[in-house]
Amino acid sequence: MSTKLEAKLEEPLETMDTLKGNGMRDGGEGRRRMLKDASVPELHAELLRRMGEDPERDGLRDTPRRMEEAMAFLTRGYLQTIDEVLHDALFDVDYDEMVMVRDIEFYSLCEHHLLPFFGKAHIAYIPRGKVVGLSKLPRMVDVFARRLQVQERLTQQIAEAVEDAIHPQGVGVVVEAQHLCMMMRGVEKQSSLTVTSSMRGVFKTQQQTRSEFLALVHTQK
Ligand SMILES: [Zn+2]
Repeated sequence: MSTKLEAKLEEPLETMDTLKGNGMRDGGEGRRRMLKDASVPELHAELLRRMGEDPERDGLRDTPRRMEEAMAFLTRGYLQTIDEVLHDALFDVDYDEMVMVRDIEFYSLCEHHLLPFFGKAHIAYIPRGKVVGLSKLPRMVDVFARRLQVQERLTQQIAEAVEDAIHPQGVGVVVEAQHLCMMMRGVEKQSSLTVTSSMRGVFKTQQQTRSEFLALVHTQK
C-alpha cells in the first residue's frame, strides 16, 4: 500500500505537467478532470514542488500523506453533527441559575489562510428546564472549530447550537484566540488576543446577567 503510494508520488503529477497543452486543446476541461483525478497526496506533492521543494527527498517522502491525514483530522468537524454529540446528553432540571463552562481549549483553522487560530471558549447559559451534559460543551466547540472558520462565526455557531439544543432563557459565548496568520505574517502585535462574543436571550437583554457572565470569564484563574 505505502510502496504503491510512493511509486505514484515519484512521477511528477501529470495534471500540472500537461496543463498548458490541455488548456490550448480543450479550454481547461481536461485540466479540471485531471485535478479531480489526482489523489490528495499527489496534490500535496505538487504544492511542495511549487514551493521549490523536492517531495522525493528523504525528509519529505511521507509528507504528502501526512499532510492529508493532518488536514483530515483538523477538518473532521465537517463529518460531525451537534445532534450526534448531544445524543442522550440533555437532561431535565429545575435549576435556573447560570451554568458556565470556562476555558474550553480549541484549535481551528482560519478560512483565509488555512493557518491555525486557537484559544479558549467560555460558554454560559441560564436553563429553561433543560441542561446539556457538561462534558458535551467542549465537544460542541470542537465540531465547529474543526472546520475552516472565522472566529466571529465560530462564536455564533456555538451560541446558536446551545440555543437550538435546550432553548435556554439565554446564552453567552466569549471566544479569545490568537491567530497565527497575524502572528507569523509580520503584524507587529504578536501576542494580541482577538475577543468575540455572542449574547442571546437574557444575556442580551439583561445587563446584570451579561455582567455576571463577563465577570466570571475574567475571574483570576
Ligand atoms: Zn487568516
